[in-house]
Amino acid sequence: MKNIVFIFIVLSVLFIDCSKKPSEQLTAENPFFSEFDTPYGVPPFDQIKEEHYVPAFKEGIEQESAEIDAIANSVEVPTFANTIEALEGTGALLRRVSDTFGVLNNSMTNDKMQAIDEEMAPLRSKHNDDIRMNAKLFERIKAVYGQKDNLGLTAEQAMLLDKYYKDFVRGGANLEEDKKSRFREINEDLSLLSIKFGQNVLKETNRFEMVIDNNEDLAGLPEAVVSAAAETAADRGYEGKWVFAIHKPSMIPFLQYSEIRELREKIFKAYINKGNNNDELDNKAILSKIASLRLERANLLGYKTHAHYVLEENMAKVPENVYSLLDQLWKPALEMAKKEAKELQVMIDKEGGNFKLEPWDWWYYTEKLKKAKYDLDEEMLKPYFELNNVREGAFYVANKLYGLQFVERDDIPKYHEDVKVFEVKEEDGSHVGILYTDYYPRESKRGGAWMNSFQKQSRLGGVDVYPIITNNGNFSKPTGDMPALISSEDVGTLFHEFGHALHGLLSDCTYYRLSGTSVPRDFVELPSQIMENWVFEPEVLKAYAKHYETDEVIPQGLIDKLKESGTFNQGFTTVEYLAASYLDMDWHTLENIELQNAEKFEDESMDRIGLIPEIVVRYKSPYFNHIFSGGYSAGYYSYIWAEVLDSDAFQAFKETSLFDRKTATAFRENILARGGTEDPKTLYLRFRGAEPSVEPLLKKRGLM
Ligand SMILES: [Zn+2]
Repeated sequence: MKNIVFIFIVLSVLFIDCSKKPSEQLTAENPFFSEFDTPYGVPPFDQIKEEHYVPAFKEGIEQESAEIDAIANSVEVPTFANTIEALEGTGALLRRVSDTFGVLNNSMTNDKMQAIDEEMAPLRSKHNDDIRMNAKLFERIKAVYGQKDNLGLTAEQAMLLDKYYKDFVRGGANLEEDKKSRFREINEDLSLLSIKFGQNVLKETNRFEMVIDNNEDLAGLPEAVVSAAAETAADRGYEGKWVFAIHKPSMIPFLQYSEIRELREKIFKAYINKGNNNDELDNKAILSKIASLRLERANLLGYKTHAHYVLEENMAKVPENVYSLLDQLWKPALEMAKKEAKELQVMIDKEGGNFKLEPWDWWYYTEKLKKAKYDLDEEMLKPYFELNNVREGAFYVANKLYGLQFVERDDIPKYHEDVKVFEVKEEDGSHVGILYTDYYPRESKRGGAWMNSFQKQSRLGGVDVYPIITNNGNFSKPTGDMPALISSEDVGTLFHEFGHALHGLLSDCTYYRLSGTSVPRDFVELPSQIMENWVFEPEVLKAYAKHYETDEVIPQGLIDKLKESGTFNQGFTTVEYLAASYLDMDWHTLENIELQNAEKFEDESMDRIGLIPEIVVRYKSPYFNHIFSGGYSAGYYSYIWAEVLDSDAFQAFKETSLFDRKTATAFRENILARGGTEDPKTLYLRFRGAEPSVEPLLKKRGLM
């Protein structure tokens, strides 16, 4: 399961001071109207009410507009300080409310929050366009940009200037007036459509339930899976029955273990038909409209396609480079997946199954095959993967690499009882930042796993703003007497998101706009994915993989089996993922603005690459949140792009030692601390001393 990092594409608006203070009365009533008076400035969740958001958004927009006008109308000669740095200092209130709202609307949403999101989207979109299309402001930025080489700027400052200039150009600053108004319309429509898309996916995920009312239909399911289903049933008012849902912690174990083929088919089909049921939650028309509007916007700016527009800012630069990497991996991966399918079919035939392998059989027979081949079963591992221990394992790695300490704090406000809060400290005890972890699924939370921030690190004018980071997941939660025992895949996901968190926490930048995870999309997965390399290293497992009842460390035998089975099912995993990357690229290299038939388009796209019918693309278009509701359009390929980097980067540890401090320090100083302050390629070369090679990735996935 891959993960999302939310990087808000809203125009930079961090803060230092606001030029206009709201009235006394507003301040008293609305917590957003003053700086948060809490430990480390975290949001005062107990004081924030839903009715505070809209007035705070509106006032925030008004304040920032006034600040922007002051910069734009200045009579002083434009300089880096009075224009670019000044822009970095605008929008304190707006950032405070939008960062808080952004985190909570993903993790704890409800009808009211969703309505606020929809109400605010056009206003926020207009506000961003107002800034970028402010002609006077752009003139000033252009004037500074024109003297770029003579200003004696640091590398970080030069990058910031570049970023502002490009952002304005890409945001329509150079367009003629009539095109500007169409550009605005498109942005407004897109902001609403993507919200709608995400809301539909969430509603679809919550809507389906498979109620089981007899024991026979539970055949093959492990006890823990059955008791979790009983608890879900009780929660939903089906006392004495069992309920399975299509969020992954519920569905995947069912697909892995259920002997009832028709039920596997039923739940799987419900999953892959999300947003495709021709009713009020259907996403096909919405996504087709999104793709078409994105293309129109790219064309307005002079780009051939939306992918060209997006990729210009990424390491990949042009679609051809993305397709070239995908093609390089696709052939060996598909061959391997075909072999895997054959092996599974042999198993079915041996059992006298007398049917052809279908996608809803894949998990079940893979699990059986793994057991037969390696005597390894997900349920054998789970007792060693208790959620709190796994998190401690991630902390352990960060401690060994960077000396970081994580101290749980009960005196810091949190937004939900399932959330834990940690203060992160350096080896010498100095403050680094705050980390919230929020791992259990609930109906108010979107699917998947992601990192987000309540506050990003910056040091504008020498004032330290410390990062406040969140990690979110949808992992199994405790049931009855059982603690939360998670799958090996989720262990990887937890480490992955924790890697993003480190990128946010260890940021050491001056400007908000360049700090932490504000890097190209195909670079942002390097800090996250590199963490996954430590997950199953024996030395690390010994530190965290302890039996939840006996505290016994995971036996060496099991570790060996895990290692042996490392490339097991990698054909499937790679193909499922690459197919989604192709689908994303195909949608966004569209050159025809006419609305597409989403189903037909997807079928043709998958036919073109020769996806086998036993495997379904990881995300079908109607629930492909990453690209239609998140920030990964023409960017889903980023995971594999960055995997080339992380596999190569991890070699540096393999060449020395797993926790080599010198290598770790180089990684921290050149990558984690630097955010987007320099070109990623430069940063990487400085860390590694050479360009990344694709070989370590191919080896890791067993593709060579
Ligand atoms: Zn990620």
